[in-house]
Amino acid sequence: MGYVLESPRPQEVKDEVTAQEAAVDEVMHSSPREACGVFGAFVPGTEVSHLAYDGIYALQHRGQESAGMATSDGQAVVVVKDMGLVANVFNEYKLAALPGHIAIAHTRYSTTGSSSWHNAQPVYRMTSKNPDRAQPIEFALGHNGNLTNTEVLAAEAGMLPGTATSDSDVIAELVVRHLDSNPTHDLVDALNHVLPTLEGAFSLVLVDHGRLIGVRDPNGYRPLCLGKLDQGWVVASETPALDIVGAHLVREVDPGELLIIDSEGPVSEAPWPAERIDPKLCLFEFVYLARPDSRLYGQELHSARIRMGELLAEQAPVEADMVMGVPDSGIPAAEGYARRSGIRYGHGLVKNRYIGRTFIVPDQAQRAQGVRRKLNPLRETIEGQRLVVVDDSIVRGTTPRAVVKMLREAGAKEVHLRISSPPYRWPCYYGLDTGTRAELIAADLTVSEIEEYLGADSLAYLTLDALKKATGAPGAGFCDACLTGSYPSEVSVRMERRAPAASPVA
Ligand code: AMP
Repeated sequence: MGYVLESPRPQEVKDEVTAQEAAVDEVMHSSPREACGVFGAFVPGTEVSHLAYDGIYALQHRGQESAGMATSDGQAVVVVKDMGLVANVFNEYKLAALPGHIAIAHTRYSTTGSSSWHNAQPVYRMTSKNPDRAQPIEFALGHNGNLTNTEVLAAEAGMLPGTATSDSDVIAELVVRHLDSNPTHDLVDALNHVLPTLEGAFSLVLVDHGRLIGVRDPNGYRPLCLGKLDQGWVVASETPALDIVGAHLVREVDPGELLIIDSEGPVSEAPWPAERIDPKLCLFEFVYLARPDSRLYGQELHSARIRMGELLAEQAPVEADMVMGVPDSGIPAAEGYARRSGIRYGHGLVKNRYIGRTFIVPDQAQRAQGVRRKLNPLRETIEGQRLVVVDDSIVRGTTPRAVVKMLREAGAKEVHLRISSPPYRWPCYYGLDTGTRAELIAADLTVSEIEEYLGADSLAYLTLDALKKATGAPGAGFCDACLTGSYPSEVSVRMERRAPAASPVA
């Protein structure tokens, strides 16, 4: 039978960490949620853990909090997971302890306090012993997304309030309970039963003894693609994970598709009725989240981001001496802005590559200091210049405010901010955690009020129509709820997050 390898930590350290995590979680969250990268591989005759390691390594940008992997050799499912980056969690010894030709892997992201070992994935379950079943079923599951009916589902699964460590845990529990009460059913039967009860965003990978399974919710909020290796198959959140293992992209997994891969190859099932399928890929995957070398809706994101900058230059021209991007996310749009405006492109900020995301620090002062640690101006390039400074988005306003200040201190004559997406006004409930409404600077302030707060000479955003046009797939289905407040599905009021004490302009 399978097992989960825990990292050896003394009990007192575990207790202390758990208490701190609980305290932060209590302040920052009203419910558990996930936003992550997932990978899966089925390669007969191959020990697949190293390949899965490479796959998840390419998805590190989607989650830096914890990493994990589950493999099967046809006899047992084994899980290794821990807090930290992929390269810190795994080593040769741990990869060797993950035998078999089927693997799923996961990297987890959450923007605030719920960093705990318990929320690391994959989530593992095994059915209870049952005389009607020859052998217990065991499986592991990795989830990218966020359910919006977690509490209802947890109650249905008979989980006591507070016992579910994450929405992914609830999915696994629903599946194992279904299997326990239906001894003639297998994992795919259980999924066909459970999946239609889930609401919200979920791109899933699962492994049992003999299969790799991929699932995309009927709105396809989060990406998931299918790739082919010479001898096998892979599924991944983003296409660079296929590139790195030498797989070629076959297609995106369809919204509402249950994809089952075994030695016969992939087979699709449709757990949802056709009328429930409504593609709503997260528009922010195009703007910020996905890697520039990713392909979504058939488009390379780097090119799409350059087009965003070109359209921004058309919509919000300004007289200036140099266009620069805020590294890294603002760079392609800055290139596009420079190209279309004819203004010289230059580098005005250097990024320290060894620093993590500033975004995840729960305190505003620490966040601002984090920006300073991350970015440093090139004084000789900036001095006396009228600058157009391009970034992909403004969420709380921390980064642009610190950037404007540091550019002025470095001698910039004018700083004109140009943002390659519309104002970010509404919280995301589908797996991109950007905090409460109260934290979003554009929730209540007008563009000129934001401009004043940031201390910029001018501020302009790209319009929604232009953004969709720049994706290269303007007719495709997108979720733009964070920009419009128009949520594709009803979001339960209990999911609204409590605002922390600081307002975005504090
Ligand atoms: P802020 O500093 O709060 O205004 O956030 C804007 C900056 O964070 C921009 O430079 C974005 O590239 C980046 N950003 C946008 N969305 C996210 C996110 N969900 N997680 C981390 N960083 C983000």
